[in-house]
Amino acid sequence: MKPFIYNQLPSRVVFGVGALDDLPREITALGAQRALVLSTPEQKAQAEDVARRLGERCAGVFPRAVMHVPIETAREAREEAKRLGADCAIAIGGGSTTGLGKAIALDSGLPIIAIPTTYAGSEMTPVYGLTEGGIKKTGRDARVIPKTVIYDPALTLTLPIGLSVTSAINAIAHAVEGFYVQDANPVTSLMAEEGIRAFADGLRRLVRNPQDLDARSDCLYGACLCGAVFGTVGGALHHKLCHTLGGTWNLPHAETHTVVLPHATAYNAAAAPEAMARIARALGTTDAAQGLFDLAQSLGAPVALRDIGMPGDALDRAADLAAQSPYWNPRPIERAGLRKLLDDAWHGRRPA
Ligand code: NAD
Repeated sequence: MKPFIYNQLPSRVVFGVGALDDLPREITALGAQRALVLSTPEQKAQAEDVARRLGERCAGVFPRAVMHVPIETAREAREEAKRLGADCAIAIGGGSTTGLGKAIALDSGLPIIAIPTTYAGSEMTPVYGLTEGGIKKTGRDARVIPKTVIYDPALTLTLPIGLSVTSAINAIAHAVEGFYVQDANPVTSLMAEEGIRAFADGLRRLVRNPQDLDARSDCLYGACLCGAVFGTVGGALHHKLCHTLGGTWNLPHAETHTVVLPHATAYNAAAAPEAMARIARALGTTDAAQGLFDLAQSLGAPVALRDIGMPGDALDRAADLAAQSPYWNPRPIERAGLRKLLDDAWHGRRPA
């Protein structure tokens, strides 16, 4: 075996149907007294339900989380936590709400309990994003990792199928890149393979019956594993491309990951054969890139950039931007190869 370094994440995970009932115990375990509950406006009712369960231990509800964490919202939430005397925050929702929790933690050190209700996996990572003056800045900081993550699959029963599938493929992308990033190691690769397997299996059952709690449990388990992979070892070409496309053309986050992933995988295939074999095995197929494309298509997810708002005349500029500031990737970043990748993704071609 080759030598390796593996950094263990410092968070505590509580997983199971009904795990939301453990919330008061988890607040106590953190040594906290009063929590500010965060959510998006769409999930305000869910946040209020959490507040009711907490009674006196709830300092208030802040239902104003939005995509991309505008710095103004983060400041408002921090002020609200201070004003209400909260000594911890609870983020109930997807990556956008978890992102708000992280922004609060970054500045104030307030401990965060994340209760994920999508499959994107942000709750297991020290990666944060903040938007200031229209520009999204991302970074890694150990202070933002939620101290406790409560995974209750019952909370994802209301997640529409479209977002269930695309947020799951966003998380699968974390695992795919985890196999071949510079810091890849046997421990995170084990989690990545199991995470993809759990998702592929869970998603296929989920689209047949969205109320299948067992399938939803498999998907949330996949989110935990794939999120932890990204949180530990980071990403490469695929994440850089999605960040560039999403940031410059304001494309929807999870859908962009879903469309680009098979093509970024195909780009790296010859340079990372061992990774490809493990991805294919986890998907129950023989070719990783084609398997990812077929999975997305069979689940009814978008497979073409042109269908999610990417202008066809912007592909040259996108290739230029993605080729700038070289970063580590198993296959060197070549502009011509990227341009072809983008062309395939824009048309929604099955990788060759
Ligand atoms: P989201 O949090 O933006 O949620 C999308 C919508 O779905 C919101 O209106 C939300 O309220 C609603 N929703 C969430 N759960 C629901 C449920 N169970 N039932 C009904 N509605 C529900 O979506 P997302 O895909 O989880 O997160 C995307 C964001 O997360 C992006 O900004 C992305 O950058 C970030 N992200 C960050 C990381 C990281 O490691 N930092 C990883 C993945 C994603």
